[in-house]
Amino acid sequence: MISCLFCGKAKAEVTHLIMGLTEGVAICDECVGQALILLASKGWVPPTIRIGVSVDLAEIGRLKEAVDKLLSVVNRDAHAIEGVTEAYEIAWAFVSSKGP
Ligand SMILES: [Zn+2]
Repeated sequence: MISCLFCGKAKAEVTHLIMGLTEGVAICDECVGQALILLASKGWVPPTIRIGVSVDLAEIGRLKEAVDKLLSVVNRDAHAIEGVTEAYEIAWAFVSSKGP
């Protein structure tokens, strides 16, 4: 069964699984999204996206900054969201390790 080469999720676990040109290689929509956020945070500007929806990746980069600030505030006194924070950090470290 084909799964995402980055996160290992199977087709049934994600919304989209994009097949690569090499047999058995695929990436899921979640990993593509994380990669785009990472690239935007590094100042990458995408070519025109022709899907009928305007996507401002600089805006996504600012959204990440906002999320980071929110987490730093919440982290001060909330053990309840430790799991969420940990999941975010693990996900971000994973994506960062795959970056350019
Ligand atoms: Zn994935």
